[in-house]
Amino acid sequence: MTSMHSDRLPGHPHIAYVGDELFVEQTPLSALAQQYGTPLFVYSRASMLAALAAYQQGFAGRQVQICYAMKANSTLAVIQLFARAGCGFDVVSLGEMRRVLAAGGLARRIIFSGVGKTRAEMHAALEAGVGCFNVESEAELEVLNEVALRLGRQAPVSIRVNPNVDPQTHPYISTGLKDNKFGIAHERVVQTYQRAAALPGLRIEGIDCHIGSQITQETPYLDALDRMLDLLEAVERAGVPIHHIDMGGGLGIDYNGETPPQADALWHKLLDKLDARGFGQRALMIEPGRSLVGNAGVCVTEVLYLKPGEQKNFCIVDAAMNDLPRPAMYQAYHQIVPLKPRATAPETWEVVGPICESGDWIGHDRDLSVQQGDRLAVLSAGAYCMSMASNYNTRNRAAEVLVDGAQAHLIRERESYADQMRLEHLIT
Ligand SMILES: *Cc1c(COP(=O)(O)O)cnc(C)c1O
Repeated sequence: MTSMHSDRLPGHPHIAYVGDELFVEQTPLSALAQQYGTPLFVYSRASMLAALAAYQQGFAGRQVQICYAMKANSTLAVIQLFARAGCGFDVVSLGEMRRVLAAGGLARRIIFSGVGKTRAEMHAALEAGVGCFNVESEAELEVLNEVALRLGRQAPVSIRVNPNVDPQTHPYISTGLKDNKFGIAHERVVQTYQRAAALPGLRIEGIDCHIGSQITQETPYLDALDRMLDLLEAVERAGVPIHHIDMGGGLGIDYNGETPPQADALWHKLLDKLDARGFGQRALMIEPGRSLVGNAGVCVTEVLYLKPGEQKNFCIVDAAMNDLPRPAMYQAYHQIVPLKPRATAPETWEVVGPICESGDWIGHDRDLSVQQGDRLAVLSAGAYCMSMASNYNTRNRAAEVLVDGAQAHLIRERESYADQMRLEHLIT
């Protein structure tokens, strides 16, 4: 631990030990925990903007719309930050669209994705004027056409194709293989575009794919781009022009020493391929989520009890699977580090939450030097944590703070028990 003092944490450029304390930018986490309580999510504004800048640098001089896939972290102030930085948004529900509009994002920069859009969602999104519907099935095309005609509009559409490449990631977050529920099988793509072109309520804009999440290699992207361009050529040969190519999201982050490609380096290679195949002038879209916010966030938690045992030592903390669902859901790994490292020799702990489920764990076999009352930071908690949080065990969802240098903004208050019970009724 001592080697970490006044060190940046690898993969987390805005999180560092300064002296004996863990800081996000110029703000000590212990002061935030003191002020706002735990569990507490803390995000670095600079880290989010730096992650976005890596994409923007990769695309310098090109016609590209970056649409932040906000399901990764849909807190209003996070959306506002990306909207002000020029991002559009990839939304997967009407609720997400409402959040974008409430945070000042533009409807025309919204892409509406998802396999199960309802008629009501299509109607509201058309009325708001979203930029594009990423359509995932032939049946959905027919319904979208009907809804648009009834409104007297044309729906802008892109068709999500399934390029059938293996993103080499966890099966739950791999989406571009044949047996996934997402997208249209590549042998049906030309027919589907021809059908869409014949429907008067639709206007064809693009072609899209999204092959998976937490992708740490560049090969799946290069393969997917080749298949997308093959399909695009086939569709245009069949007489249906396509304006933009949307390569989805999925770029991974460093949770535990992974070395995903940098966004700018990856896009340098993808743009070379586009140029080589004669598509360098085509408008592009991308939908990054995790890679913009994941390593910008930590979850601060307090050690409630230590329970050493014969087989295992349990370190029981006040954050749980309702706050940090990824370990229980995907056996995911998050680094766990102390806010104030101790000099004593570490022991091995099972770091677990208070929820009545054996699946409520945050880290297995972690070497930590801890005492009751210490605070720990669970790293890489900016993506798919708060946005997946629940009230299981009637636990209030955590508060969130956005750090900007030495300034901290409370962007979400801790939920109250009254908030949780507000919509319920006793029987009279
Ligand atoms: C989830 C999702 C994304 C973002 O994925 P990340 O792995 O967070 O980058 C992009 N596009 C679609 C359609 C998605 O469902």
